[in-house]
Amino acid sequence: MSGLVVAMDGPSGSGKSSASKGVARALGLRYLDTGAMYRAVTWWMLQRGVNLEDPAEIAARSGEPTLTMSTDPDAPGVAVDGVDVSGPIRGAEVTGAVSAVSAVPEVRRRLVAMQREIIAESLPHGGIVVEGRDIGTVVAPDAPVKIYLTASAEARAQRRTAELDGTTIEAQKAAMARRDALDSTRKTDPLTKAADAVELDTTPLDLDEVIAEVLRLVKERT
Ligand code: C5P
Repeated sequence: MSGLVVAMDGPSGSGKSSASKGVARALGLRYLDTGAMYRAVTWWMLQRGVNLEDPAEIAARSGEPTLTMSTDPDAPGVAVDGVDVSGPIRGAEVTGAVSAVSAVPEVRRRLVAMQREIIAESLPHGGIVVEGRDIGTVVAPDAPVKIYLTASAEARAQRRTAELDGTTIEAQKAAMARRDALDSTRKTDPLTKAADAVELDTTPLDLDEVIAEVLRLVKERT
């Protein structure tokens, strides 16, 4: 089966989402936000009153919610049991709780299997840009193009603060440092750069420059 897979990994605020959507649009590919899947499961668990301090309870309930992903880069979205949760999953409650849920191996096993299915379905249609934390290492280790986006803590916090109401750069810096520490130190599939990924520091770049650089790498590697 032909079709291109572009793996985009990196910490929160590194510019993955905007760059991934832009690259998918430019190349006519689909787009998958795997973070939205972990967020959607977390939203569902919060709704159901699952104790997120108990990994065994998270694991036991992890097979219950049914996720539906939109892979259109112009209209990405996620529904849980038929309810569109694209807005609520960006709230502070889900953001603060998601790392506890995404650290549970049963949750990851199920979502990684779904992600691989979505990737396989995209291949006859040209392929897909997939963003997350473990795409180049676990979900799609054979992807021909792997990018690891980084940015300074200051730049990442500034970007997030501009996107959200009622927060400060200092508060965002602290929240992101906490989430990155949890995501990088968990036992199962931690955030890490794949050995064959190209690292791209987006600190001095605007969005168009990041997209242009990724498109250049795609051309070079395919
Ligand atoms: O990218 P985003 O900030 O929406 O991701 C939310 C959370 O989902 C991350 O902090 C991480 O805990 C989890 N995640 C993950 N693996 C991925 C994508 C996201 O563990 N591939």
